[in-house]
Amino acid sequence: MQVTTFPLGPLETNCYLAEANGEALAVDPGGEPSELLAYLESSGCQLTRILITHMHFDHLYGAAALARATGAPILCPAGDEFLMQSEIGRGGLMGFPLVEDFDYEHIAEGIYEFMGCECRVLATPGHTPGSLSYYFPAGKCVFVGDLLFYRSIGRTDFPGGDMEQLLDSVRTKIFTLPPETVVYAGHMLSTTVGDEMLHNPFLSEGGL
Ligand SMILES: [Zn+2]
Repeated sequence: MQVTTFPLGPLETNCYLAEANGEALAVDPGGEPSELLAYLESSGCQLTRILITHMHFDHLYGAAALARATGAPILCPAGDEFLMQSEIGRGGLMGFPLVEDFDYEHIAEGIYEFMGCECRVLATPGHTPGSLSYYFPAGKCVFVGDLLFYRSIGRTDFPGGDMEQLLDSVRTKIFTLPPETVVYAGHMLSTTVGDEMLHNPFLSEGGL
């Protein structure tokens, strides 16, 4: 499995394109997706899924356009649906534009197969109540949205955010994965499970 990062949209949200077996999936297309579409065209991969980690506007801006261009279904956590009634979900917050409406299906914790690869969908609430992480054991990587960042954690001051829940999600769902697992975060650098277990100031031994 190969993963390419496209920082998209006004908050440079990391959109990830994963490819395997001639198929591709996109995680959190947070902006206008023309760069992503050009890449897909040159690679010859067919986009078969658009996965959303949580329903904040900066992870959703490109969803409608990407689905329209590729025909790929959009999968969103049911627990975040209420956010689409708020500015943090549908946009408008602090003058940011609105998210274009899109159709989507619900996805929940469980074991799935995407691109011929096993994907374990993990319920990782805290940043939002519905937040999901997408773990690919064979790809040795997990897409966590805004749950966990390089040396940091997601904010919990938005509607439905809960710090205790977030720390519990990281400890029980992410830090139980193999330490070499690459953590692809919604913003900034990627990291690994083992590295954050040792060095994340919010979660490491003796941390906050
Ligand atoms: Zn977020």
